[in-house]
Amino acid sequence: MSFAVNHLRIGIPSKGRLSELATELLLQAGLNFRRQDRSLFARVSSIPAEITFLRTDDIPTLCSEGAIDLGITGSDLVEEAQADVVVRMKLGVGRCRLAICVPTHSDIEKPSQLKGKRIATSFPNTTQRFLNQHDAPVHLVKLNGSVEVMISLGVADAIVDLVETGSTLAANQLRILTEIGQYETVLIQSPNCRDTVTADRIVRRLEGVVIARDYSLLEYNVPRSKLAAAEAITPGFTSPTVTSLEDTAWCAVRAMVKRCDIIPIMEKLESLGALAILETSINNCRL
Ligand code: AMP
Repeated sequence: MSFAVNHLRIGIPSKGRLSELATELLLQAGLNFRRQDRSLFARVSSIPAEITFLRTDDIPTLCSEGAIDLGITGSDLVEEAQADVVVRMKLGVGRCRLAICVPTHSDIEKPSQLKGKRIATSFPNTTQRFLNQHDAPVHLVKLNGSVEVMISLGVADAIVDLVETGSTLAANQLRILTEIGQYETVLIQSPNCRDTVTADRIVRRLEGVVIARDYSLLEYNVPRSKLAAAEAITPGFTSPTVTSLEDTAWCAVRAMVKRCDIIPIMEKLESLGALAILETSINNCRL
């Protein structure tokens, strides 16, 4: 199977955790496709688009070259490739930091002290740019993986690697010297996108799912005298919906609330005198 000429091409990672996250997100956004065996292509039903399965680190370059129109990849890889692409949206997953790391007991305290040292990394361009800004030219050892063991192997004095929880660093007796940047999974678009109307439609669909994942719907009843205070606690995405109740001293409020804030907000509303406070998940939305 190959691409249909006019169909929008979406590149997603062919394997790994990001492949699963991207597939799940696309399916939830109604972009249904089925990958057969190890096929590199899959047709999306009901929208003129096709999925192609690629190496995550090739996606920025293939998108800037126009081989694909949209791509799901890490913003760290977009920066490393210095790809000429538009970041259409952050996908709310894969958050990590790129950091310069040294042995736990190293006496190096700032990046300028790395001058002339050997640094192992899969991010040579980003590392070079950062250290040039700190006037610390270094010898870069470019690798594709297992960077964290390179100090104990005697290959490098420091490493530059992605850090999520920090447990890989701790297991290798390393500490963060400094952070180069913060990154996450993004949707990118080619400057030569062959169908911007379909691309926009896909972006809107994905936005619906990504925003819904971040928010819950909170509903509660509150004395009308406390409504202004309640609205200040739950201002909603745009503004809360307020409905009158039979008992005119009370009203019902409905507002979107960031999931991560839901518990303290429920507590504040309860202290204010709100009753029947209910949280409901949102699967999808258009705002
Ligand atoms: P952690 O032990 O949780 O700090 O994870 C660090 C390891 O996971 C490193 O080897 C990274 O290369 C990898 N890693 C963490 N976050 C990401 C990410 N968002 N994308 C790709 N690799 C990652």
